[in-house]
Amino acid sequence: MLARSRCTKNGQEGSGPVVYWMSRDQRAADNWALLTAQQLAVERARPLVVLFALAPSYPLAAKRHYHFMLAGLRETAASLAKHGIPLVVLPGDPPAAVARWLAEQDACLVVHDFDPLRHKRAWVNAVAGCVAAPMLEVDAHNIVPCWLASPKLEYGAYTLRPKLQRLLPHYLTPFPPLRLHPVPAAAALGQPDWEWLEKTVVCPDQPGPVMDKRPGAGAGLEQLQSFLADKLPHYHESRNDPLKKVQSGLSPYLHFGQLSAQRAALAVLSAAPGGASTEAFLEELIIRRELSDNFCYYQPQYDTINCAPSWARDSLERHRSDPRPVLYSPAQLEAAQTADPLWNAAQTELTHSGAMPGYLRMYWAKRLLEWTERPEEAQRLALLFNDRYALDGRDPNGYAGVAWSLLGVHDRPWFERPIFGKIRYMNASGARKKFDVQRYIQETTQAFSSTPTALFPCDGPR
Ligand SMILES: Cc1cc2nc3c(=O)[nH]c(=O)nc-3n(C[C@H](O)[C@H](O)[C@H](O)COP(=O)(O)OP(=O)(O)OC[C@H]3O[C@@H](n4cnc5c(N)ncnc54)[C@H](O)[C@@H]3O)c2cc1C
Repeated sequence: MLARSRCTKNGQEGSGPVVYWMSRDQRAADNWALLTAQQLAVERARPLVVLFALAPSYPLAAKRHYHFMLAGLRETAASLAKHGIPLVVLPGDPPAAVARWLAEQDACLVVHDFDPLRHKRAWVNAVAGCVAAPMLEVDAHNIVPCWLASPKLEYGAYTLRPKLQRLLPHYLTPFPPLRLHPVPAAAALGQPDWEWLEKTVVCPDQPGPVMDKRPGAGAGLEQLQSFLADKLPHYHESRNDPLKKVQSGLSPYLHFGQLSAQRAALAVLSAAPGGASTEAFLEELIIRRELSDNFCYYQPQYDTINCAPSWARDSLERHRSDPRPVLYSPAQLEAAQTADPLWNAAQTELTHSGAMPGYLRMYWAKRLLEWTERPEEAQRLALLFNDRYALDGRDPNGYAGVAWSLLGVHDRPWFERPIFGKIRYMNASGARKKFDVQRYIQETTQAFSSTPTALFPCDGPR
């Protein structure tokens, strides 16, 4: 189990509990960080406490995201309680609140989640800078710990794939169960006051909760089961057709760590050990997903144009002054008021349902290159809309997905053309070869009619 962890900070073990500072992996089952913390607590005959820092406002998170996360955490608290492990939720600035609480409890040692995103790493560094206890990092999100999968920024799936394939037999193993913890924690820790905690969050009310996506670990497992039963067999041939709806819909559960990717991979392999669909799905779930973590971990500029490979930057630079067919304002784009009905439908689906089919995500981002003055603005708006509206947004997959679409990251040079330079091009006639575009537009327009509150006040045509 310890092969999934590494020391973040040497220190002096305190007299208090072993603490698992949960952040990215918000589940009680199938969680290597929690299992590691429990093993260390058992070896030391200490209580085990799980700590979660509730940031009062998280970058670009809205009611939609907090609702999903807090409902999932409630379920996690109940599962942990059944195992004699309290969940303490601390509102406030995460590093300050965590460091203060660890000092008050004289924590024995701290196990924490791995997260490649800049601000999450800064939280960990800030806590490590001011607590006395040793700290241990566990990658419970990836199947192969990110830093072991590769020691460097990978060029693409083709360079990471063989490395992961070599290591997967050692890491893609069944999970041991979480045990009833043998040493009780202090009764004073009690249960989180969820109503009060919800009131400490200061976030935009809109976009509101996605009512047809039930949050939590149980719902994530149900979604996995229904994917295995109904969709997996068709994944290979139909995943690029939004009307067939054969994608798994697991990304919000994976993003909030309510479902373990390793659990999903094991379930797929047990339900359908071979075949093109299993292979295609595991390529996305393991290789592409872990490639995104590799990208954000080793590329600090994952959300700026500087993350582009040199061929792509040179090429975009050469086409910087190419005339754009039309320029839309951020407000027009957000309100899905372009002359492209397919783009408008995809944007409408995103803002209303918090999701967009995978194929359309690529098309949607790429069109922004043509409709904004500079690639920097296209990237800014793609990330802004994706992070604010997508339930699975604010994720390494989003930063990598946008960088792939607009900046050639993890891709290769294509034929040179205006505006795009050598960046791979996609257009509506390509989409029409994949699926019935007209039907998708009709169905989406019918399904979503109201307008969610906007980031940008409406500013009319430009
Ligand atoms: C512009 C753009 C933005 C994106 N933003 C996000 C985002 O914010 N959050 C997010 O999770 N994914 C993002 N993706 C990747 C991908 O589109 C989604 O993961 C996928 O569509 C989610 O639906 P699903 O769970 O039904 O996927 P499935 O097709 O069922 O795949 C299963 C899982 O594999 C992983 N996966 C699938 N495709 C990719 C991919 N291309 N790259 C990395 N991992 C992948 C995801 O974890 C996904 O949940 C983005 C892609 C693009 C092009």
